[in-house]
Amino acid sequence: MSHNPFHGTTFLLGAPGLEHLPADTGREVAFAGRSNVGKSSIINSLAGQRHLVRTSRTPGRTRELNFFEVRPGMRLVDLPGYGFARVSLAQRRAWGELMAGYLAQRQSLVGILTVMDIRHPFKESDQDLLGLLQAGGFRSHVVLNKADKLTRGERNDVLRQARKEPATAGAQVQLFSSVSGDGVDDLRQVVREWLE
Ligand code: GDP
Repeated sequence: MSHNPFHGTTFLLGAPGLEHLPADTGREVAFAGRSNVGKSSIINSLAGQRHLVRTSRTPGRTRELNFFEVRPGMRLVDLPGYGFARVSLAQRRAWGELMAGYLAQRQSLVGILTVMDIRHPFKESDQDLLGLLQAGGFRSHVVLNKADKLTRGERNDVLRQARKEPATAGAQVQLFSSVSGDGVDDLRQVVREWLE
């Protein structure tokens, strides 16, 4: 395998609110998705590290924006998971405000990866986020994770359908599996291009 540019990635900080973000310089790429779709696992796969991001079976655990430094001036951001059924309306509203504020103000944000579970893609909350990204003109890439859970035929069907969704217009869509490693090279390529 070729040299992994994300290998040296380290945890920078967890920001509970917009006033705690690291300095808005350089470039960063953010990962968004419903709770439990495997965002943390994807960031670990990208970095080729098992425990860079804590993964969990408990949905809704991540409430902070977690920043990782690939190298000085290049960051990955794990955004708080959304669409978790058991959170209150007030929590959902707080998440919406945090996200909207982050997207609106962050100069160093160069693109967003929306992660979905390939077995449950394009939930309403995903549609909302993708709509927000389209409206804001953000660079957008969609990752259908847990591809190992479907047969080859099934996952290619979902991929084809996903590419036809209005919500993915202007975005690339790819398959991924943190378990098999499928798609990791493609994803590294995208994130690297965005960060450089
Ligand atoms: P997050 O909440 O989006 O950060 O999700 P996590 O990375 O913590 O993963 C949630 C659960 O899905 C964990 O039990 C992971 O082991 C599992 N998981 C993550 N990625 C994959 C994958 O590609 N395939 C399979 N089968 N399970 C995965």
